[in-house]
Amino acid sequence: MSITRQKAIESAIEYREIVTPLAREGDVPSYFGMNVFSDDQMRQRLPKAVYETVRKTIEEGVPLDVGSADAVATAMRQWAIERGATHYAHVFYPLTGLTAEKHDSFYNPDAHGHLIAEFNGRQLIQGEPDASSFPNGGIRATFEARGYTAWDVTSPAYLTESRNGVTLCIPTAFCAWTGDALDKKVPLLRSMQALNRQAQRVLKLFGHENPGMITSDAGPEQEYFLIDRSFYYARPDLLSAGRTLFGARPPKGQELDDQYFGTIPDRVLAFMMEVDKELYKLGVPVKTRHNEVAPGQYEIAPVFESSNVATDHQYLIMQTLQRIAPKYGLACLLHEKPFEGINGSGKHVNWSLGNAKLGNLLHPGSTPKENMQFLVFCAAVIRAVNLHAEMLRGSVAHAGNDHRLGANEAPPAVISIFLGDQLTEVFERITFGSSQKVRKAGMLTVGVDTLPPLPKDATDRNRTSPFAFTGNRFEFRAVGSNQSIAGPQTVINTIVAESLDYVATELEASLKASKRFHVAVQQLLKKIYRENCRVIFNGDNYSDEWREEAARRGLPQAVTTPDALDAMRTDKTFAVFSEYGVLSRRECESRFEIYYERYVKDLLIEARLCLTMARTMIFPAGVKYQQVLASTATALTALDKTFCTSALDEVTERLGNLQRAIARLEKVIQLPADLTIQRQGRYLVDTVIPAMDDVRDSADALEHICSDELWPLPTYQEMLFIR
Ligand code: ADP
Ligand code: MG
Repeated sequence: MSITRQKAIESAIEYREIVTPLAREGDVPSYFGMNVFSDDQMRQRLPKAVYETVRKTIEEGVPLDVGSADAVATAMRQWAIERGATHYAHVFYPLTGLTAEKHDSFYNPDAHGHLIAEFNGRQLIQGEPDASSFPNGGIRATFEARGYTAWDVTSPAYLTESRNGVTLCIPTAFCAWTGDALDKKVPLLRSMQALNRQAQRVLKLFGHENPGMITSDAGPEQEYFLIDRSFYYARPDLLSAGRTLFGARPPKGQELDDQYFGTIPDRVLAFMMEVDKELYKLGVPVKTRHNEVAPGQYEIAPVFESSNVATDHQYLIMQTLQRIAPKYGLACLLHEKPFEGINGSGKHVNWSLGNAKLGNLLHPGSTPKENMQFLVFCAAVIRAVNLHAEMLRGSVAHAGNDHRLGANEAPPAVISIFLGDQLTEVFERITFGSSQKVRKAGMLTVGVDTLPPLPKDATDRNRTSPFAFTGNRFEFRAVGSNQSIAGPQTVINTIVAESLDYVATELEASLKASKRFHVAVQQLLKKIYRENCRVIFNGDNYSDEWREEAARRGLPQAVTTPDALDAMRTDKTFAVFSEYGVLSRRECESRFEIYYERYVKDLLIEARLCLTMARTMIFPAGVKYQQVLASTATALTALDKTFCTSALDEVTERLGNLQRAIARLEKVIQLPADLTIQRQGRYLVDTVIPAMDDVRDSADALEHICSDELWPLPTYQEMLFIR
C-alpha cells in the first residue's frame, strides 16, 4: 500500500475514536434561534409603532420608511454587539450557486481618533458590493461594475460564530445598477408574489373575501456523503471536482441494503448532533437525520418553511455540514455523484402553498366545497407541470446532476407526475365518467355529477417519480444535492401562477355566462385533466417500458444539461417568466449564458483533472508494476516464468489501452476554435465525455490487477467503508 494511503487509513482509524460530540445537544428550546434577530427580539427591542411597521412590511410588502429602518438598524446593532459581533455582512446569493458576503466593521473612527459603533438604516437596507466578479451573463456593462444588495425583510438576520469572532449576517437581494436581478433571491421573491396574486383570484371565486397572503412553502431533504478527511485530501479529483473521476468498483457496494436507516456510526452521529445544534442556534428547524441507501451516505431534513426562508436556511444547512465535518476528521461531499456504481445524492424539494388562515391548499378537505378547491389547485399543478416540463427539467440541469438524471438511477430525465392510484381514480372518474383501469372494488364511490369525497391518506409512495404527490404536497425529486433550491422553486411558483391565472380566467368567464359554480369547476377540471393527463404516470419510472411510453406520449426527454437548457430556452419560457414579472427576457437570456458557461467550465476542469491524474498518478503506478513483473520474470525458472509473463502481458495490454485513451483525451480536450458556448457544451457531450469515460475504464481496469502496494489513490473500499 502506498505511504499516502497508509497514512490516510491510520488517521481515519484514529478519528473513529471521537464519539462524543464536541457540543452536546442538550436542552434544544433553550438555544433554538438564539443567533437569530427574531420576531421576539424585534418585539422586545423596537418601539411598538416601528415593530408594527416592520410586520406590515413582512406580511404585506409595504415599503419600510427611513425612520423605521434606522430604528431597526440600531436595535439590530445593539443585539449583535451584545452577542460579541464586530462586523456585519450583507449575504447574497449570486448565480455561482454559492453564497457571497462582504464584511464591514460596525466601528468607525470619530474626530478624536476613537472608534464608535455605527450602523444606520441606510447601511442596513442597501449595500454596494463590486459586482464585476460575479456571473452576470452580459447584463453588466464593463464600465459599470457596481452592484446593489437590498435587505430582504422577510428573511431574518442572524449571527455566525467562528472561533475568532462573530458576524451579523443580513440576507439580501443582489442586482445590477440597472435593476436587473443578478442573483437567485430576486426571482424567487418575484415568483412568490406572482403565485400569491393568482391564488387570490382563485380563492376569491371560492368565496374567500380576505384570505391573506398566500405563500409557497418548501421542505428540502438534503442527501450527502461523508468520508474521512484524509482520503479526501489524497484524492485530487474529490478536492477539485467534488467527485471521483477514477475508482474500480469495490467487492461490496450497496447490494446488501444494509445501510438505509441502519445504525448511524458513532463518529457520524457525533457530527450530526453538532450540525443540528449549530442549525438550531440559527433557527433552522432541522428534524430528520438518517443513513441513506449508499454506504457513507446520509440525509438531513428540516421542517418546511416559507420558500424564501427555506431557501436561505438550505444554504446554511449546506454550509454547516461542510464547516463542521473537518472537526470530526470528515469531509462532506455534496456532489450529485461522488462515486460511480452506487447511488448519487439529490435534494427532494417538498412544495405546497397556503397560509395560516386557510391552511395548506394542497390538503384534501373534509367538505365537498373544500375538496373542489383542493382539486382545482391540484389540477393547476398538473397542468403547469405538463405545459412547462422543459422549464422544470432546465431548473435542475447542471453537470453534476447529469450523472443522476441522465443515468439509470434516481428520477429519470423525463418529467412526469405521480398522483397515486386514489387521486388518479378521482380525476379519471370526473373526466371520463369511469376509471380507465379496473380497481379493487369498494375503494371509492364517485358520482358523475357531484364531486367525490377524497382519500385523506395517500399512503401509496412511489420513489421513482420526479414529481410526486405525497398526500398534501408535491415532492420535486430531480433537484441536485449541490444546487440551490431557489431556481426550482422559482420555476414551480411561476408555472403554477400561470395555471392559476388560466383557472381564474376560465372560471370568471363561466360565471359571467351565468353557469353554476360547481358545474363550471367540474367542467374545467375535466378539461384540464383531459388535456394534461399524459404527464401522469404511477408506475416504475426506471423501467425501459416507461421510456418508450413517455416517447409515445410526446413527453420531452432531455438527457444532458445542454439538451435540457436548449429545450428550455424558448420563447414560451421567456414569455411565461416575463408575463408574471419573474425574469425579463434580458435577465433570462443572461442566465442561460451563465448556465451554459458553467457547464463548460465544470466539464473542462474534470477533463483536465482526468488527464493529469491518469498521466501523473495512474500510468506511473502501472509502469512500476510492469517493471516489477518484468524483473521478476527474468529471475525465475522457466515454469514460474509462464505465470509471471502472462500477468506481465495483461498489465502491458491494459497500460497500452490507458495510454491510447490518454492520447485521445489529450487531443479532443483542445476545443475547436470559434464555437459558441452552446456548441462547446454539445462538443463536450459528444466528444470529450466519451474520451474521459475511456480513460476511466482503462484506469479502473488497471486498478483491478495492479499491486495494491503501488496504487496511489485511496480506493472506493477505503473511502466508503472506513468510518
Ligand atoms: P420522506 O423522506 O418520506 O419524503 P421526510 O420526512 O424526510 O419525508 O421529508 C419530508 C419533508 O417534507 C420535510 O421537510 C417536511 O417538513 C416537508 N413537508 C411536509 N409537509 C409539507 C408541506 N405541506 N409543504 C412543504 N413541505 C412539507
Ligand atoms: Mg422525500
